[in-house]
Amino acid sequence: MRRSKQIFVLHHCLLNQNARAKGLAKRRGVVEEIVEEAIRNGWGIYQIPCPELRFLGMEREPMSKTRYDTEEFRVICKEIAREVAEDLRRFVEVGYEIKGIAGVEGSPSCGVNLTHIGEGGEEKLVEGEGILVEEIKKALAKNGIRINYYGIKLEEGRDC
Ligand code: SF4
Repeated sequence: MRRSKQIFVLHHCLLNQNARAKGLAKRRGVVEEIVEEAIRNGWGIYQIPCPELRFLGMEREPMSKTRYDTEEFRVICKEIAREVAEDLRRFVEVGYEIKGIAGVEGSPSCGVNLTHIGEGGEEKLVEGEGILVEEIKKALAKNGIRINYYGIKLEEGRDC
């Protein structure tokens, strides 16, 4: 079978809503409509690891970017970003097309245009990128790769 040589990159929970913070899953598992688009178009899917899962595990409560933005969490995001950018470079340098990267709007880690800031009950949705998205963009630039980012907003309400 001939490969499509086309890859779509998804932040982790678009393929696995089980990874989300408590109470935030918006699907039982996969976000079907995104996967269906990839299947229809013959794209492979590359899944970015979930940084919050690595940092706080499965019992975590929803938190803001303000609270996540620590040196420790940045280290995890930088490491994931480095691995992802190097993997994507390996595809690009042999002629594969990266169709885009889909992040999760509102997330303190994976928001593309929207993220949550604040603490102590004063959290709010604002324009801005999540911490992992910031680090991935820096790592892609370091590897000389430009890829379009898309923000997926599944429905109204809190995202991570
Ligand atoms: S949006 Fe939240 S749950 Fe989804 S991959 Fe990013 S950090 Fe993990």
